[in-house]
Amino acid sequence: MDFKGKTAIVTGAGSGIGAAIALELATRGAHVVVADIDHSSAVDTVTRIASEVGSALAFEVDVADAESVREMANFAVKEFGGLHLAVNNAGIGGPSETTADYPLEDWRKIIDVNLNGVFYGLKYEIAAMLETGEGGAIVNMSSVLGSVGRPKACAYVATKHALVGLTKVAAMEFAARNIRINAIGPAFIDTPLLTKNLDPDVIESLAELHPVGRLGTPTEVSALTCFLLSSQASFITGSYHLIDGGYTAR
Ligand code: NAD
Repeated sequence: MDFKGKTAIVTGAGSGIGAAIALELATRGAHVVVADIDHSSAVDTVTRIASEVGSALAFEVDVADAESVREMANFAVKEFGGLHLAVNNAGIGGPSETTADYPLEDWRKIIDVNLNGVFYGLKYEIAAMLETGEGGAIVNMSSVLGSVGRPKACAYVATKHALVGLTKVAAMEFAARNIRINAIGPAFIDTPLLTKNLDPDVIESLAELHPVGRLGTPTEVSALTCFLLSSQASFITGSYHLIDGGYTAR
């Protein structure tokens, strides 16, 4: 896979899965906008990319803010001359509460970041790709929880299911204009999203939910994402791709 001459945006690229994707895209030749709400973490990813002789710039974005996302797309075009690839990856978890007890404020925040954030991404990235005029490819970061439920995670599960529908609609709208849009559904991946928030015994019990007997890694998710962004995936659009160690096969 070769992304030379392509410009990519990766949101949430300061940590975990997004950082792995930004690193792989850059080592395969893309110019990468490393976008995150946590600017110092985005700068760290850019430093890692620079040490591997890649090309990247950090951009501070809040994906829950439409204007901030519009500026991110403009930044990519201004700095690198166009936009070809995007990964709408930024996302948050949330409290573990039943639907009856779920705090309204957390519900709204998760909808804002995980769902509205991806809509804003698509809206402005597609416009920038059309203006660039060379086609494009986008991957939206859903989850295995975009196809199955999990008690005490109503907001997260609702947003990740919604991304699958949003992906299908946008893909149908822009397929004829050479922009492919897919979603992926990782099961539990070893990133700060999990390790920061959960006790080791809970993480161990999550690992056991996967027939492969372990959590996934950010580089495994990056490999699928980069394949879907590449020209090798030229007939794949509007679909949702699980990467789940057998989680949903049970
Ligand atoms: P992470 O917490 O390691 O990284 C998420 C990044 O997103 C962080 O750098 C954070 O600063 C950034 N971010 C959060 N809110 C933002 C905002 N409003 N604007 C811009 N950036 C923001 O998490 P991760 O595990 O790498 O998760 C990345 C994506 O993968 C998320 O969408 C998550 O839902 C999804 N996912 C994760 C897992 C998992 O088990 N880790 C499984 C399936 C899907």
